[in-house]
Amino acid sequence: MADQERAQGRSARGQGRLEVQDLDVRIDTDAGSLAVVDALSLALTQGQTVALVGESGCGKSITALALMRLLPEGGRVVGGQVKLDGQDLLALPEARMRPLRGRRIGMIFQEPATSLDPVMTVGEQVVEAIERHLPLHGAAARERARQWLRRVELPEGAFERYPFTLSGGQKQRAMIAMVLATEPDYLLADEPTTALDVTVQAQIMELLRELQREQGLGLLLITHDLALVSGFAQQVALMYAGQLVELAPAEAFFHAPAHPYAQALLRALPDARRRDEPLAAIAGSVPGLSERLPGCRFKSRCPHAMPVCGEPVPLFRPGKGRQVRCVLYAPGAVPPSPGDTAAALQPSSAQRALKGVPPAAGSVPLLQVKNLSVGFPVRKGLLRRVVGHVEAVRELSFDMRPGRTLALVGESGSGKTTTGKAIVQLLRRQARVRGQALLEGVDLFALEGDALREARAQAQIVFQDPFGSLNPRLRVAELLEEGLQALLPQLGAEQRRERVQALARQVGLPADALQRWPHEFSGGQRQRIAIARALAVAPKLLVCDEPTSALDVSVQAQILNLLRELQQQLGLAYLFITHNIGVVGYLAHEVAVMQGGRIVEMGPAEQVLQEPRHEYTKSLLAAVPRLVVRQTADGPK
Ligand code: SF4
Repeated sequence: MADQERAQGRSARGQGRLEVQDLDVRIDTDAGSLAVVDALSLALTQGQTVALVGESGCGKSITALALMRLLPEGGRVVGGQVKLDGQDLLALPEARMRPLRGRRIGMIFQEPATSLDPVMTVGEQVVEAIERHLPLHGAAARERARQWLRRVELPEGAFERYPFTLSGGQKQRAMIAMVLATEPDYLLADEPTTALDVTVQAQIMELLRELQREQGLGLLLITHDLALVSGFAQQVALMYAGQLVELAPAEAFFHAPAHPYAQALLRALPDARRRDEPLAAIAGSVPGLSERLPGCRFKSRCPHAMPVCGEPVPLFRPGKGRQVRCVLYAPGAVPPSPGDTAAALQPSSAQRALKGVPPAAGSVPLLQVKNLSVGFPVRKGLLRRVVGHVEAVRELSFDMRPGRTLALVGESGSGKTTTGKAIVQLLRRQARVRGQALLEGVDLFALEGDALREARAQAQIVFQDPFGSLNPRLRVAELLEEGLQALLPQLGAEQRRERVQALARQVGLPADALQRWPHEFSGGQRQRIAIARALAVAPKLLVCDEPTSALDVSVQAQILNLLRELQQQLGLAYLFITHNIGVVGYLAHEVAVMQGGRIVEMGPAEQVLQEPRHEYTKSLLAAVPRLVVRQTADGPK
């Protein structure tokens, strides 16, 4: 039956089209039926990439799930069509839809753990997918599976391993292998490389490019990484609050974005050229599903909003080579140039005041790390005796000065996070830490008791994933007060309350946030809470472990501005662990590149980024996607 299905309606390789017309998706909740995707239309041609971009909560992932007819409980498509080579998928009985999933349209989900079966080896799962969709069985299917595991750069032996033995990035690659091994014509890839190191990301994207050339793979790339999009996609579809607001060829989009939201997004991206000025953050956040008012959904954040934007919803107007949902593109209107939006998004005077404050380059070091080595114990036997140590960090030495940012870059497993955790005293029990970390001359590793508690207030950490670090049983106000009470007991209740309210405002939390629970917030808002909590005790040194990698571009800009502002005001030193070279270029004064637990190159940020000397630094930087702005004759009309 499956083979028959495949034979029917399948276009010649590379000539098909997946068309979405006026797609409306709703989710039924206790509060009523909420529109999550509104009148969305786009077309995916084989061999081409359409990037679906926009902030969290805009409806990107739901759109992909709707195309696959895999909406979560309560979700339903209430209008529109999804045509695969002319056949409406939404009208097919489930029995006819099932074989199309995987074989004609594959999907890579954001969270690999949910897509891999924990009781089957990785190899068995890839073989199962191949045998279900391709005329290959037994040894031939196994050989094909091994080939795919190699193509996604998984180590030898991955075939026989269970998912729980793999790292997050390896699981993601296993899932990519499983989906690609069935040779789909279209791939819906939801943040496919977010969990991967840049060098592996570059390999996976090259693999996808190869499949586009060889097999005409049509790719719907859902991502928040605009640099990745600029170098890869032919079309960009920008979503905002459930609606497409701009659909344009990638060159035109990046050269001259038309919608004010698109213009603001690109202005909010950090890079080295903007390092002397605050980023143009977009105020506010995407309206929630129940907060969507009539008219333009971007109006509360738009620098060009006017009464006519209040209602009705602006039409999605076709222009020359692109479509834009904005009254400024109505016939006769004069659309804004990106420069107009840049001017309207100028930072506040307080933010502007940051510019020009010289960092304290020549000051006495705040922190001196000398010959830091961190070894994790290897245990054996019934008594779990320690028989040796695996060195995760070896002989690291560097200085950090007040008001300066040292970026630690390198791939997963290079020892960046271990270094940060060791400095903030989080590895005392789990690892053997040797060397010294002198904070204002006092060796943190030698402290005990009250002295250690005091030192902990001086050096705080913000993690990439705030989910695990926020106590779910405390309201936000209590979370922020908790650290204050423990580490700054001299503050009275009123001072604590004022400080907590000021912190919430500083990190952009809504007014009612303090009385809410952590689970009520989005990932980005939880990260703001985590940053506020770390800052509450007025540390001198902040270890930031990928603090903005889970955030949307506009929120990232707000957080980076906030971190810069605090650094300038308070002379904070940041040890900034990141893989985002744009952030490094924007924020860092010095860069240390780590590989295999050692620093292989260290120097002023400009020098390391512009003229890397070590071969590893060169290959790392070469793999980083850059925002490609190509000249085009097709500006906004
Ligand atoms: Fe801004 Fe009005 Fe255009 Fe919406 S319709 S993006 S509020 S100018």
